[in-house]
Amino acid sequence: MARLSFTKMADQIPTEADAYEYLEKLRWPSGTPTCPHCGHKGANFIRPRNGDHTTRTTSRGAQTARRLWQCKGCRYQFSAMTGTIFHGSKISLRTWLFVLFEMCASKNGMAAREIERKYGVAPKTAWFMAHRIREAMKRDAPGSLIGTIVADETWVGGEPKYRHRRPGEVARRGSGTDKTPVVALIDAGTGEARSAVLPNVDSTTLRKAMLQADVDIDHSVLWTDEAAYYTHLGRRFLAHETVNHSEYEYVNDRGATTNLAEGYFAQFKRSLDGTHHHVSREHLPRYLTEFDFRYTTSAMSDERRMARLVGQAEGRRLSYKRVKG
Ligand SMILES: [Zn+2]
Repeated sequence: MARLSFTKMADQIPTEADAYEYLEKLRWPSGTPTCPHCGHKGANFIRPRNGDHTTRTTSRGAQTARRLWQCKGCRYQFSAMTGTIFHGSKISLRTWLFVLFEMCASKNGMAAREIERKYGVAPKTAWFMAHRIREAMKRDAPGSLIGTIVADETWVGGEPKYRHRRPGEVARRGSGTDKTPVVALIDAGTGEARSAVLPNVDSTTLRKAMLQADVDIDHSVLWTDEAAYYTHLGRRFLAHETVNHSEYEYVNDRGATTNLAEGYFAQFKRSLDGTHHHVSREHLPRYLTEFDFRYTTSAMSDERRMARLVGQAEGRRLSYKRVKG
């Protein structure tokens, strides 16, 4: 995988004006800006009037490095930020790009506290930035998962509720703990992951999660372990292959395995423990979105992944109110 190191990226954007040019290249790789208002391809650059043509003065008299374009079709003025998750933010675009890069490229993601410390932004701002980026990570195309689908579930987060247990009793999964069940659905062909939080684990909730993830049940093959709740569900698929984990079987004799899902969960749990420490059930879906995005794009170069995220950022503005729910 081609790795764009953080240092290399930081070297490419020493100033705020460079950050705008960098974003333009990511958003409009052909070099032709697209009008966010009417969709027309082609715009004139509005040259700033200062000496070296890098900054302009806003209506409030402040200096800004914002690069402006005017649509050749409708005359609308816009920048590469218009209509993206960065739109209207008081955070510098350089900072946004650095945080975006780190959330895209680091395996474990980036905690809000880390953003706060590294970039000197307020805690609330850091938290909001991370969530805005996660919003852009939501899958943008509604296409189906079709082919070979690996499904597996796990329990994450929370602490066992000792008060409900007798001394010496071993912590169980599910009832008696405040852990949350999560299902991962992975397309073994494309490597795309779609995961979801479940209210509880049974064949009904699993089927619902598959429908919401647009799994094309009628035209796909399902690979799972031998858990009973997949038996009935498996009959709706073209075929259902199971792996017998209790017999230490990890690949069955027809080549089916749930290794992909186990790898997904191992990385997800490492990140929750190492980076985020504790994630409430309420926010868990957003972290899963982030993980699905990184997992699905893991074969891409860091630059392509960023370009994809910035592309998806269009029209994904998220108000603080909505995040807080
Ligand atoms: Zn236009």
